[in-house]
Amino acid sequence: MTEALLQVEGLTRRFGGLVAVNGLSMTVGPSEIVGLIGPNGSGKTTALNLLSGALKPDSGAIRLAGKAIDGLPAHKIARLGLARTFQLVRVLPSLDCVENVKAGLAFRERPLWGEAATEEAIRLLRRVGLGGKVDHAASQLTYIDQKRLELARALALAPKLLLLDEWLAGLNPSELQDGIALIHSLRDEGLAIILVEHVMDAIRSLCDRCVVMSAGTVIAAGPPASVLADVEVIRAYLGD
Ligand code: ADP
Repeated sequence: MTEALLQVEGLTRRFGGLVAVNGLSMTVGPSEIVGLIGPNGSGKTTALNLLSGALKPDSGAIRLAGKAIDGLPAHKIARLGLARTFQLVRVLPSLDCVENVKAGLAFRERPLWGEAATEEAIRLLRRVGLGGKVDHAASQLTYIDQKRLELARALALAPKLLLLDEWLAGLNPSELQDGIALIHSLRDEGLAIILVEHVMDAIRSLCDRCVVMSAGTVIAAGPPASVLADVEVIRAYLGD
């Protein structure tokens, strides 16, 4: 059996007495889109922070492409091929779009500089639908365009695995359709994706599998059609 791209085993993180992530085990295969879903406070963002190295786990193992990454600093994990976007968009507001993406290109395993970096930044900006705004300051962009920019910067790391934290939240219906199509096309190019998302239509149309968390624990996992029908999942969402 070939090893999964991402293998998570017994991942646990406490904040004082609270177990925010409690023994999370999951895998993500190449070109697979896995949804991480669950009500607010269930541990999804903490899980992403553990995977990306923003937080250190208390216990558990994380392997990316066969290499142990738990405990490594975030920039090393990024260099090994794991990139993310944030729930609250983080762009460099005073810099233009090209410079924002070049900041990502300088951080990847094989950094790009100068003219090559500018060309690659423009290619990535076109890729996410910002081809007409390459010289706009990030602070002048609309919300959706800031999200697109943040995605371009994540793609600049040439990731194998992309973590999207509510990337589709707050979009209008037509922006949502564009966003879903964009994520589909990234997967078609070979990228694996973990999607933390509340937008059910997006989960249904994008995810190969879903992992459902409640109070730090996985309560269901499987294809979205079966998981979303699961009684326990519905209970966790309704909170009864
Ligand atoms: P979700 O992303 O599913 O909404 P979170 O991972 O943000 O859930 O939070 C899981 C639990 O951990 C919540 O109870 C939250 O209050 C708690 N938590 C998250 N981050 C911290 C922190 N830095 N310090 C203390 N508690 C935290």
